[in-house]
Amino acid sequence: MMKKAAVIVAAGKGRRMGTEMPKQYLPLLGMPVLAYSIRAFQEYGVDKLIVVCAAGEEEYIRTEIAENYQLGAIILVPGGKERSDSVYQGLLAAEGTDLVFIHDAARPLIDRDTIFRTEEAAVQYGAAVAAVPVKDTIKEADQDGFVERTPDRNRLWAVQTPQTFLYDEIRRAHELAIASGDHAITDDAGVVERYLKKPVRLVMGDYRNQKLTTPDDLKMLEGFLQ
Ligand code: C5P
Repeated sequence: MMKKAAVIVAAGKGRRMGTEMPKQYLPLLGMPVLAYSIRAFQEYGVDKLIVVCAAGEEEYIRTEIAENYQLGAIILVPGGKERSDSVYQGLLAAEGTDLVFIHDAARPLIDRDTIFRTEEAAVQYGAAVAAVPVKDTIKEADQDGFVERTPDRNRLWAVQTPQTFLYDEIRRAHELAIASGDHAITDDAGVVERYLKKPVRLVMGDYRNQKLTTPDDLKMLEGFLQ
């Protein structure tokens, strides 16, 4: 049996929200955003549930979120400056597991089927990412705002989380990135692509599994839940 860990990254400041409170703690229909993903992975079933938070926010999460909403056992670890630093701290805490789901706390509407699809593909291919085909045509612009390229829409996917990996592989990829002084890659599959040069499998995510980034997103997520 494979031992599984979920690493939920919740150490960001969420500046684009413009709220005093970081976006992962804002209430969504009465329950904090972070509580949704903790609950989703607990219900899915993992051996270790790790929440990476900003240093000093551990007590708040333990009392106001985990206890208040009667969530099960979680391991809290302090994160780092960039998302990849936070993920790496989570990976250290996941030592001893075989498979790891890395998930943004800011995506509360993660569903069981999407988690499962990433697990299945990660077991088979080593690295799997939830993603959805883009609906809009995407343009690549130059520095001056003129179109440089129009990629073929049929081949474009918007990536989400969870991004799910065999533990040893994602840990090695992050360690190679750290050794190169590279902290700028915004998703974990990107670290595998660049440093392990291994294929990453895309699996169907869910259009509702959106990331809370701006105040409008809160209304959209509430709409999906109602
Ligand atoms: O900023 P962005 O929306 O890309 O962040 C995605 C996720 O990564 C959020 O859940 C955020 O809390 C987390 N994060 C983190 N540590 C950082 C930056 C972001 O855990 N230093």
